[in-house]
Amino acid sequence: MLSYRHAFHAGNHADVLKHMTLIATLKYMTLKVAGITVIDTHAGAGLYRLDGEFAQKSAEADEGVRKLFAADIFKANQAAGQQNVAEAAIESVATALQDYYDCIASFNAKSLKIYPGSPFVMHSQLREGTSATRDKLKLFELHGADATALDGNMAQLEAGRMITVERADGFDALRALLPPPNKRALVLIDPSYEMKSDYARVSAAVQDAMKRFPTGTYAVWYPVIPRAESHDLPRRLKGYAQLAKKTWLHATLNIGQEDAPDAKAPRQIGPDGRPLPPKRPGLRESGMFVINPPHTLKASLNEALPQVLAALGRGRGKGFAVEAGG
Ligand code: SAM
Repeated sequence: MLSYRHAFHAGNHADVLKHMTLIATLKYMTLKVAGITVIDTHAGAGLYRLDGEFAQKSAEADEGVRKLFAADIFKANQAAGQQNVAEAAIESVATALQDYYDCIASFNAKSLKIYPGSPFVMHSQLREGTSATRDKLKLFELHGADATALDGNMAQLEAGRMITVERADGFDALRALLPPPNKRALVLIDPSYEMKSDYARVSAAVQDAMKRFPTGTYAVWYPVIPRAESHDLPRRLKGYAQLAKKTWLHATLNIGQEDAPDAKAPRQIGPDGRPLPPKRPGLRESGMFVINPPHTLKASLNEALPQVLAALGRGRGKGFAVEAGG
């Protein structure tokens, strides 16, 4: 039984890292004319309302995309545009961060109300092309309600055969799709890890995919949490890349520990008039591991992540790292 719903987490700091990395990756991959097959094994619902009940309950976007959009770096640039302030005095926004901002902003008119999930983020970078060069987007989602929502959301794009949506197990589906006919692919593997077995399934899926299609680009998101499987996963992925003599990149973003609540502050009151329990500490750190990344990705993330951290970092332990090899 799947209980995870991405609507509670949409637009959090982990989505910022994941979606920014995907945009930078696809922006590079689409420089070549030949079409790409993009596979999202765990697609979610596609679009999320940041003013909806789920998002408001968790308030995770407040520590992610909302905080980023309100950051000084974007305010400074808006001010530069409006008042013709000398550009030299303004820190320029890193390209990968600006591309991410532009993508999310394109779904919103004035205020930030909609957050696009990976299917829409990745679709925003794809090309209709001709039948020979058209990029393809193949989406898999197992949760019934989210699969139905995804189908409806993607249908709005009227993209025809460019996009397929299936309610299916993304790990199983991946096997039949590799190698892709156009011999170019980006695969995003982004499970919820609500089941411990997800870690082993990610490892097995990447290992199998690299045998079937060694030149594909594989992007894996994972939570950095105090659990052996979480620490083991990037180590294993690096091992598979090295064994296959392929390049790899590992980026992590840690927004740091939340300030401890003021013991003297009055407890928040719930709708039933009773004090709410103290908020559980949320996820602080996550990682993206990319096999066969664009050679430009390391520099792009090294430029953007300090700016992301300046906006989202909030306490002890905050930091980022970008390691690459192969
Ligand atoms: N990739 C999405 C994004 O960035 O917007 C978020 C995906 S969310 C982290 C993980 C999703 O995987 C959930 O919607 C969950 O229902 C779904 N899921 C869980 N197990 C699955 C499986 N074996 N195959 C496909 N989807 C699965």
